[in-house]
Amino acid sequence: MSSYQPPLRDELKGIEPYGAPQLDVPVQLNVNENPYGPSEATVRDIADSVARAAATLNRYPDREFTELRRELAGYLTPDSGSTPIAPEMVWAANGSNEVMLQLLQAFGGPGRTALSFAPTYSMYPEYARDTNTTWIAGTREEDFSLDLEKARDLIAEVRPSVVLLPSPNNPTGTALDPKAIAVIAEALGDSGVLVVDEAYGEFRRDGVPSALELLSTYDNLIVTRTMSKAFAGAGLRLGYLAAHPAITDAIRVVRLPYHLSAVTQAAALAALRHREELLAKVDELRQERDALVAWLRGQGHQVADSDANYVFFGTFPDRHAVWQGLLDRGVLIRETGPDGWLRVSVGTPEEMTAFKNALLEVVTP
Ligand SMILES: *Cc1c(COP(=O)(O)O)cnc(C)c1O
Repeated sequence: MSSYQPPLRDELKGIEPYGAPQLDVPVQLNVNENPYGPSEATVRDIADSVARAAATLNRYPDREFTELRRELAGYLTPDSGSTPIAPEMVWAANGSNEVMLQLLQAFGGPGRTALSFAPTYSMYPEYARDTNTTWIAGTREEDFSLDLEKARDLIAEVRPSVVLLPSPNNPTGTALDPKAIAVIAEALGDSGVLVVDEAYGEFRRDGVPSALELLSTYDNLIVTRTMSKAFAGAGLRLGYLAAHPAITDAIRVVRLPYHLSAVTQAAALAALRHREELLAKVDELRQERDALVAWLRGQGHQVADSDANYVFFGTFPDRHAVWQGLLDRGVLIRETGPDGWLRVSVGTPEEMTAFKNALLEVVTP
């Protein structure tokens, strides 16, 4: 093949595509998946639903995915306090990454700014880059919390049209102080939207509220969720949001028509019917998470508080050597975030034992 150089946008030249290593090792604890797959009964219902959708594939699917929006609204409502989530407040796409890209398409763009606070999810700057939105990262404190005074000053200075804040944060696992939502939503006012990314919301500890409770207070608040993590549906590619209907209406302008296939809608609806089973392991994973945090601290490691299904720990003078040592023992974790830190997903009890044994071999206390 000749060494053809396509006329790529300058800012994309030489950039590697995002992606955690997909290695075939026995213990995979690197992308925060739910380690428990669906039961046979659920698999059968998903397959039957997809078969029924397949019989209609000569037609375009419901562009407004009406039934799915209604079911997702019903699923979110128990977390939303006293105000129910209405179907017209819900939007969905192929993963919450696509939902957030659509938000940047609608609310970002040339001459506009998106803001987050580092360390945070490494995809956020990519949505900004891909939509020609200026990207600014503020900083977090030593314990990965936000200094709200500083956050307010930064917002006044850079006037972002989108602020992206995961709660719990990735890669640190730390939840957002509910006060932060009020301070930032008010600081943005009518000139910006606040996206609280609750990809791991279902794993939060008791007493930690969901930002969904504040939707009726702040019109510019958007809460995103996904079926990829707690819901054990990473392969399904279904993410969604709840927000003021004016926001979902705005996204309908930028979305590609029929972006959610009939197959995706059918599979997601079937998975939602089996939510009790698919979410059944969440409590167990939360307990496993708390036990892992305690064990790592007992070993003398520094560990961030976690409201997620992963734990951020360190610090190691050579974290790559620790990551590699674990991989050599069949345990894949994630080398991400500030230097010296590593992130491990919470797996089955057997996987946690394998991780702990490997770590004990690699790191001599
Ligand atoms: C995993 C993750 C997502 C979800 O991505 P999907 O596209 O829904 O699979 C969103 N935000 C954060 C911070 C994540 O870690």
